Amino acid sequence: MSTPVEHHRVGIIGAGIAGVGMGVKLIEAGLSDFVIVERNESVGGTWFEHTYPGCGCDIPTHLYSYSFARNPGWSRLFPRQDEILEYVRRTADEYGVTPHIRFGCEMEHSRWDGRARKWRVQTSDGEFTCDVLVSAIGATAEPAEPDIPGLETFEGHRFHSARWDHDHDLFGERVAVIGTGPAAAQFVPRIQPELERLVVFQRTPPWVMPHPDRRVSGVERALYRSVPALQDLQRNVIFGIHEATGVGFRGRTALLRPIEAMGRAHLRRQVRDPELRAKLTPDYRFGCKRPILSNTYYPALSAPNAEVVTEPIESVDAGAVITTDGRRHEVDTIISAIGYRYNRSLLVERLTGKGGKTLGDTWKGSPRAYLGSAVPGFPNMFILLGPNTVAINLVIFSLEAQIAYVMGALDEMERAGARRIEVRPERLEGFVSEVDRRSEGSVWTEGGCNAYYTDDNGRNFAIYPGFAADFRRRTRRFDADAYELAA
Ligand SMILES: Cc1cc2nc3c(=O)[nH]c(=O)nc-3n(C[C@H](O)[C@H](O)[C@H](O)COP(=O)(O)OP(=O)(O)OC[C@H]3O[C@@H](n4cnc5c(N)ncnc54)[C@H](O)[C@@H]3O)c2cc1C
Repeated sequence: MSTPVEHHRVGIIGAGIAGVGMGVKLIEAGLSDFVIVERNESVGGTWFEHTYPGCGCDIPTHLYSYSFARNPGWSRLFPRQDEILEYVRRTADEYGVTPHIRFGCEMEHSRWDGRARKWRVQTSDGEFTCDVLVSAIGATAEPAEPDIPGLETFEGHRFHSARWDHDHDLFGERVAVIGTGPAAAQFVPRIQPELERLVVFQRTPPWVMPHPDRRVSGVERALYRSVPALQDLQRNVIFGIHEATGVGFRGRTALLRPIEAMGRAHLRRQVRDPELRAKLTPDYRFGCKRPILSNTYYPALSAPNAEVVTEPIESVDAGAVITTDGRRHEVDTIISAIGYRYNRSLLVERLTGKGGKTLGDTWKGSPRAYLGSAVPGFPNMFILLGPNTVAINLVIFSLEAQIAYVMGALDEMERAGARRIEVRPERLEGFVSEVDRRSEGSVWTEGGCNAYYTDDNGRNFAIYPGFAADFRRRTRRFDADAYELAA
């Protein structure tokens, strides 16, 4: 006789900020029949996996934290990776989520079983079934490798910034960094002083702004402890500033001019060499690519042992990176920092909905979900941090709004006695048209950079093109009329 397959009301994939937050809200609602599968040996996701030197948050933590788990003890305005990881671990423990997590357990495939009206989840640790599946795998779970001829023939050392090789000593080496995104901007100033030579290969110069980071004093922390409203006030002020910037991102570009002027002044102040300054001057609108906060990135690139190369890379051979102008840049180590594949295989190929169609078959390279959360053909499934959910990098804010929405869906299923819930295709189409219309003239689609916010057709698939408060308003109550419910 075969052993019965374990069944849960809710199955969650991933124990990053999203999965832990979902777990907290399920427990608070008295719904303890859930499991979280996590491929790593720890919670934290992004903040567990990324350990490169200088890794930290670029949103002030009064805002980059759960609204229900305020932390008056943050040591800095913009804390580092280890402090955020500790915060997520503590939240998971204190709210009782940790015992629900199966660590070292990778979701290999999830298939909707229409007859049984449940998801069959195949993991590295066996199968389980669940009524409702929640993807909390984030957007940075799969580091992208640059597509450069000969890269695999390189005989030196090579790794991705998302999987930093702490066993490899860079001291005295010649190092190539491919990519100039937020991660590179954080680790480049940390490694530059110890290298013989640093070559940064840049496709698009980022906007770099002065970093207002500082230590939070003991007095401030004591104040936050005794008057929590003070921290709330700071949170609201920071939130308001982000929301206001969003107006500029969505087409009121005049509002971005003062910010761009500040960025150019920062560059002028920190980079004396006119040739280097020209290379580092962005020729696209602020916000099209994720801007960078740093007081040390430009000085690192101006150092005598550093070079910024803007000629495109043609190939890599055993010992060098070769650019299209024929130059060979001989290096000992190559660090890729070009970002991530947006859930190319983890989500897209591993989820099979109705009619045996994978999410990839449905999306065809253009991720779409109703309110960023639900996809027709994938009943009883919700995606946290799905397409078009995040407004102006307010990730945790959007995640909490989505979590409330999923909780609403579970309530509605209970109330209506429904075993299947599926978003209506016309509601998705309506949402997609609205996103496309509201993205017109925005920095994400027309800002003049090749941003990762857009898909192969130039469509904004990542950002919610409205106020974050608007996204929360729309997700606060579950709109059952957008769904087909069946017993
Ligand atoms: C270096 C870096 C810096 C960042 N800085 C900021 C910032 O300053 N501000 C900001 O707003 N955002 C920032 N982000 C974005 C950040 O990813 C989000 O803010 C947030 O951490 C996302 O949380 P998440 O839980 O949705 O996803 P993640 O943190 O990515 O967690 C997903 C989890 O799912 C697990 N998982 C994935 N696939 C499977 C599978 N098949 N089976 C089992 N488990 C699986 C992963 O192991 C991981 O633990 C940054 C991202 C990076 C990479």
